[in-house]
Amino acid sequence: MAHWQKLLISALFLMFMLVFGYRQTLAPEIYTGSGLDLAELNRHVSVIAEKPHPIGSAANREVRDYIVAYFDSLGLRTELQKTTVVYRHPTRPPRATIIGFVENIIAYLPGRQGPGSDTADDLVVMGHYDSRPLTPGAGDDASATASIMEAARIMADGPAPVHDVIFLITDGEEMGLLGAQGFFRQHPAAQSVGLVLNFEARGSYGVASMFETSANNAWLIEGLIDSTPDLVASSLSYEIYRNMPNDTDMSISKGEGIPGLNFAFVAGLFDYHAMTDNPENLDVNTLAHQANNVLATAQHFANLETWEGAKGDLTYFNLWQGTLVSYSEGLAVALGLLVLVLGVWLFTTALRAGTVTPGSSGTGLLGVLIIFLVLYSLFDNLIVYLRQADAGITRLTSLGEWPLLAFFIFALGLIAWSGHRLERGLGKLHIIVPAAVLALVTFLAGHTSLSAFIPPLLLIPLIWLIRSRASRPDLWTAAICTWGLLTAAVLYFAPHASYLFIWPLASVLFGIVIQRNLLGISKGNARYLTLLTSAFIPLLMLTPVVILAYLALGLGLPQALMIFCTLSLLLIWPLVRGFGSAARGKAGLLIMIAGLAMMTVIVFARNFDARHPRPEELFYAVDVDQQQGFWVSPDVRPGSWLDKFMGAGASAANKSRIMPGYEQDILILDGDLPAFDAAGLTVNSGLTGDGMREIGFHIQSPGDAEYINLLFAADASVSSAMVNGFSVPVPGSGDNSDSERDSAVAEKWWRWRMYGLPREGADITITLAADVPLPVRIVEVDYGTPAGAPARPEDSMSKPYSWSDSMVIFQTVILK
Ligand SMILES: [Zn+2]
Repeated sequence: MAHWQKLLISALFLMFMLVFGYRQTLAPEIYTGSGLDLAELNRHVSVIAEKPHPIGSAANREVRDYIVAYFDSLGLRTELQKTTVVYRHPTRPPRATIIGFVENIIAYLPGRQGPGSDTADDLVVMGHYDSRPLTPGAGDDASATASIMEAARIMADGPAPVHDVIFLITDGEEMGLLGAQGFFRQHPAAQSVGLVLNFEARGSYGVASMFETSANNAWLIEGLIDSTPDLVASSLSYEIYRNMPNDTDMSISKGEGIPGLNFAFVAGLFDYHAMTDNPENLDVNTLAHQANNVLATAQHFANLETWEGAKGDLTYFNLWQGTLVSYSEGLAVALGLLVLVLGVWLFTTALRAGTVTPGSSGTGLLGVLIIFLVLYSLFDNLIVYLRQADAGITRLTSLGEWPLLAFFIFALGLIAWSGHRLERGLGKLHIIVPAAVLALVTFLAGHTSLSAFIPPLLLIPLIWLIRSRASRPDLWTAAICTWGLLTAAVLYFAPHASYLFIWPLASVLFGIVIQRNLLGISKGNARYLTLLTSAFIPLLMLTPVVILAYLALGLGLPQALMIFCTLSLLLIWPLVRGFGSAARGKAGLLIMIAGLAMMTVIVFARNFDARHPRPEELFYAVDVDQQQGFWVSPDVRPGSWLDKFMGAGASAANKSRIMPGYEQDILILDGDLPAFDAAGLTVNSGLTGDGMREIGFHIQSPGDAEYINLLFAADASVSSAMVNGFSVPVPGSGDNSDSERDSAVAEKWWRWRMYGLPREGADITITLAADVPLPVRIVEVDYGTPAGAPARPEDSMSKPYSWSDSMVIFQTVILK
C-alpha cells in the first residue's frame, strides 16, 4: 500500500469510529413490544411540562392533581404526604437553612407477599414532579414522572408482583431533595423499603443510562442485565458517584442505607433547568428509553423473589448499547495486573533487543509532557476567554457536542504535527516560537494570573533539553508507559474504573506482540493492519466516554478532557503519526488549521435564536418599607431590548439592597407602585421568663410567593427556632457553630429559605433574650411575568437560577 492509501484508510477508520462512538451516546430507536404506549407518555409529559411548576406554585398543584387523579384511575391506593422538611446540606457549609413544605404523591401497588412482613422488601420507583421555577421541566423530571405513570398502568393491569411497589413522585427535589427527605425520614412506609429505583434528567436527549448504584451492587447489575434491553451503564460512573455527592433524590435514600439504582440522561445541557426544557425539545427516543428503563427494572425487581443474592461490586461497561460486559472486582484486579506484567515484559525485551532505549523513552516522556503543556494551556486560555466573553460559555453549550468535534480535530492536528516534528528533530526556531505563541495566546485571552504564563516558560527548557539529547524521542513508548502508570493508579484507587484503561492498553500491547513475534518486525502492510486493528478497542471504548463526559460536564473541565484525549491518541500514536508525516509533514498542520478554523467559527460566529435563546434576567421589586417599586436587571447590554426598556433613567445599584448578602451589580429603573400583597407576620404569643422570651408567630403569603426568604438579625441572640413543630438549627448550634455565627454576624443576618409555604401559612416559634427586639426581613419571590414587563424577543429567555420574571416584595418587620 502506498503511504496515501494508508492515510486514507486511517482517516476513514477514525471517522467511522467517531461516528460509531457518537451513535452510542444517542438513545436507541423506539422499541415496540414492551407494552409502553408512546402516545400516553407524550400526553403525560405535555400536561406536566406545560409550564414551570416549582414547589409551592399554582401550576405545581395542578400537576399534583393530575398525577393523583391518574393513579386513582388505575385503582391504586394513592396518598398525599404533606409535611415540613428542614434541610441543611451535610457537607456544604450552610449559608441558609432550607425549609420546604412538600406534598409527595405516593401510590401503592400491593404485592403477593402482602403487608405485615417485617423485612424491608418494598420497592420504591421514584421521580420528582416539581420543576425549577424557570423551566417547564419536560426532561427534568416530567420524563420520569410520565414513565412511572405509564409503568404503573402496565403493572396495575398485570398480575400482582411479588413485592409491594410504591410509586413515589416527590415534590421539592429541585430546592434541596425536600420531598425525598420528607418521605424517607418521616413516612412510616419508608421503614419497609428495600430497594429504590430513581429516574432523573439533566438535559433533553441522549441515552438514559444507569449511572449510580449503592454499594454491593452485584445483584443489582445482574438484575439489570437480565431485564433491561438497550442497557447503558458503566462502573466508571459508579466510581465517580461513590466519592461525589450528586444530589438526586437517591442521595437521600442511599444515605438512609437503602440500596438503589439511579438513571439519567445528560445530553443537551443547554436545556437543563432552562425554559427550553419543554415537551417539543425533549427527544422522543430518549423519553422512550427512560420509560423502558422504568418499566423493565420495576417489573424485574418487583418480581424477583429474593433480593441481594450476590454480594460485592461488579465492574461493568458497554461495548455498545445493549451489550454489557461485567465481571468481579477480583477479576478486574487480576486482568489489570496481567496487562501490566505484559507491558513490563514487552518493555524489558524491547530494551534488550535495543528497539527501545532509556534515552529515547526519556526524551519521549519529555515530548509527551510538551504536548500536554501546549494543549492544556491553549484550552485553559480558551475557557478563560469564553468566561469573559459575552455569554461565551452559554453560547458554546448551546451547540451540544459540535465544539468537542472542533476541539478534537484541532488537537489531532496539533498532536500529529508536533509529535512528528519532535521525532524528526527540532531546529533552533522551535525553542522560542511555541513558547512565544503560547504566551501571546495567554495574553490575548485576558488571563490575569501570572501562573498562566508558567506553561510557556516551561516549554523553553523542556524543548532545549530534548534538542540537546542524542536519542530521538520515542513518543509511543512514553505514551504506553504513561498509560500503564495511570492503569496501575486507577486499579489501586478506583478498581471499577480500571476497565477503561486496561482494555485499550491490552489491545495495543497485543498488537505489539503480534507484530514482533508472529510477523517479525515488519514495516509492511501486515504491520499497518495490525496497528489499525489494535486501535479498534481503544477508539470503541474511549470515544463515547469522552463525548458523554463533555456533555455532562459542559465546559467544566475541557482542559482535563483534552489531556485525556491527547493521551488516548498517543496510545495509538503510529496511526496518528501517519497524519503528521504525510504531505512532507504538512498534513498535520493542515488538520490543525482546519480545527482552528472550526473553533473560530464556533466561538465567534454564533448567535442566539429561538431554539437557543439568550438567558437574561429582569424582575420587578417592591420595597414595602419605602413604598417604592422598580425594575431590576443585572443583564443590560448596550443596544439590547433590555437596554431600550430600561432607557436613560436606569441607575446602578447593588442587589444587597433587596437581599442582604447578595452582592451583585444591577441596574434599576423606578416604576409605578403596583397593587401588591405582602407577606404578614401575626404574633400569637410572647412568653417571657428566666431572662428569655419565646415569640410565636404565624407567617402567610397572600400573594402565594413560591420562594420566601426570612432573615433574622444576627445580633438578636436567638437560641432556638421551630417551624410547624420541627426544630430549625440556629447559628451557633450546629457543628461548625463558631464560623457560622461569625459569618452570620458579618452579614448581619441569618437566613431561612422557605419553599412551598402553603396558603394557610406556617407557625414559627423563636426563643431569644428578653427585651431584645427581633428585626425580621422578609423577601418574597413570586414567579410569573409582572404586569408592565416588556415582551421578550424570541431569542431571549428567563435566566435559570435567577429571580427573572417575578415580583420580589421585601420588607422589614420588627418583632418586639
Ligand atoms: Zn431533577
